Amino acid sequence: MICQRCGYCCIHLDVNIVDPRAVLPGVDIDPGKRDVWVLKPKGQRCPHLSFQGDLAVCAIHVMPCYKGSPCDQFEQLGREDDLCVLGAYFKAASYEK
Ligand code: SF4
Ligand code: SF4
Repeated sequence: MICQRCGYCCIHLDVNIVDPRAVLPGVDIDPGKRDVWVLKPKGQRCPHLSFQGDLAVCAIHVMPCYKGSPCDQFEQLGREDDLCVLGAYFKAASYEK
């Protein structure tokens, strides 16, 4: 699945994310922290999300803690090179960023 970085899933889905309070910015999870996962409720913008123009940017995307996270494992049925249909759905449903 090819992500078009619209950021809709980072706002409109329930997803477990790394607790921002457990992150050493630009590094990884603070080794002194426990219980590093928190639920980001649907409709609430993920605290790791920002935008550069219309392009979604995830602050932890390149950190080791992102590997294997629910966001990292997010996929859809279909071919690997299909565009994400979820973003198109949200867009068609006129969700706001
Ligand atoms: S952790 Fe990153 S990819 Fe996951 S919801 Fe937050 S901004 Fe989006
Ligand atoms: S909804 Fe799809 S295209 Fe948009 S950011 Fe999420 S995975 Fe990427």
